[in-house]
Amino acid sequence: MSIQKRVVVVGGGGAGIMAALAAAERGAFVTLLERMEKPGKKILVCGNGRCNITNASQEVSRFHGAPPDFIDAVLKAYPVKKTIDYLDSIGLPCVEEEMGRMYPSCGQAASVLNVLRYELDRRNVRVMCGADAVRLTKKGAGFTVDTVNGPIYEADRVIMAAGGKAGPQYGSIGTGLEMVRALGHKINPVFPVLVQINLQSAFLKEMDGVRFEGSAAVISQGKVLREESGEIQITDYGISGIPALDLSRAAGECVYYKRDAQLEMRLLPRRSAQEIWADVWGRLTSRPDETLERALTGIVHMKLIPALIQAAGFKNQHVPCRHAPEPQARALAGLLHKWTFPITGTQDWTRAHVTAGGVDASQIDPATLESKLVPGLYLVGEIVDVDGDCGGYNLQWAWSSGRVAGEHSAR
Ligand SMILES: Cc1cc2nc3c(=O)[nH]c(=O)nc-3n(C[C@H](O)[C@H](O)[C@H](O)COP(=O)(O)OP(=O)(O)OC[C@H]3O[C@@H](n4cnc5c(N)ncnc54)[C@H](O)[C@@H]3O)c2cc1C
Repeated sequence: MSIQKRVVVVGGGGAGIMAALAAAERGAFVTLLERMEKPGKKILVCGNGRCNITNASQEVSRFHGAPPDFIDAVLKAYPVKKTIDYLDSIGLPCVEEEMGRMYPSCGQAASVLNVLRYELDRRNVRVMCGADAVRLTKKGAGFTVDTVNGPIYEADRVIMAAGGKAGPQYGSIGTGLEMVRALGHKINPVFPVLVQINLQSAFLKEMDGVRFEGSAAVISQGKVLREESGEIQITDYGISGIPALDLSRAAGECVYYKRDAQLEMRLLPRRSAQEIWADVWGRLTSRPDETLERALTGIVHMKLIPALIQAAGFKNQHVPCRHAPEPQARALAGLLHKWTFPITGTQDWTRAHVTAGGVDASQIDPATLESKLVPGLYLVGEIVDVDGDCGGYNLQWAWSSGRVAGEHSAR
């Protein structure tokens, strides 16, 4: 008869909760340590309070960081279908929306968290809130986990699920990374991703608040690193919206490694450069006595027109069209086609959805998520150097990695 394993899970986010449930289902005595006053605070804000729980597509190309084979092995061991069936079995049916995005059919992130919490109760997982782990020590075949001002927990197995540094207001502040670094793990550089992008332009303040259906690309050293389309919002620091969040992976990496990077914005992505030029020149020549601003009204959002006119080299938007020389008009049409801004950075950790970088995957066994350096230690969720695009991929990584580690830790 096998002896019941004492499993301590550090961190009660999506990955830690799933790991705790899997270990408990396999017969382990599970303690979940959570530094905040309750677990799963980040789940509550996922998907703007609706929780984009996974994505039906599970494409490995949507993930970054660790080698694709590593990510694929974990996702195949606990795929989307199994995740959805499991969530359904504990009381949370999900529905698929556009682009494969899956949400709980009740439409509420708070229900996702409660369903998981009630299942932790049913499985007799001991949940310790306000338990801020600070040190992980190997002791014989097992471990001790020290908490701030609190008890020391003894464990046969430890599952580190403390997240990265994104959204520190929800609990993940990077201490998990430091604890596993102290045990010899390599930590790849971390930077905020799925976050708004900072741009350099004298016109941002006046364009602040404009939303448009367009496209944008991150360019570095003449190469398009990534292009996204959809609703882009211009802000007083740069751009936000889902395309911006997805572009932030490439932008953040360039900024971190101090490579030059530009954002190429297409205000009219469905029209060719020739069509835009014909439209602009037609308006200017057919309305010689009107101001540039009046002649261009209707082509893009009104708030953009004075900025475009000045960026093209005109004195201001009140210049009459008959005084518009062709080269400047061509410059204006060029900006409407592609407007390029230097990328200066991203917004900070408090606005980031996810952490890029983290524990190097080469030191983790993808079949079990056990550390290759420290037997009995498992690494799951965002603490690992895996990050996904917007669309439910990050939570799927949390569910899959948590489940795989939880099951193996109980053996
Ligand atoms: C605003 C926002 C919206 C998002 N929306 C989505 C979405 O709709 N779909 C999607 O797929 N992804 C979304 N994400 C990303 C997704 O939430 C995360 O990638 C995922 O939740 C990570 O899970 P995790 O368990 O690894 O880490 P976390 O959720 O960060 O959980 C880590 C937990 O560990 C605790 N902890 C940290 N250190 C310690 C310690 N030393 N001792 C004890 N406890 C500790 C923290 O308090 C926290 O509860 C969103 C993120 C944010 C910030």
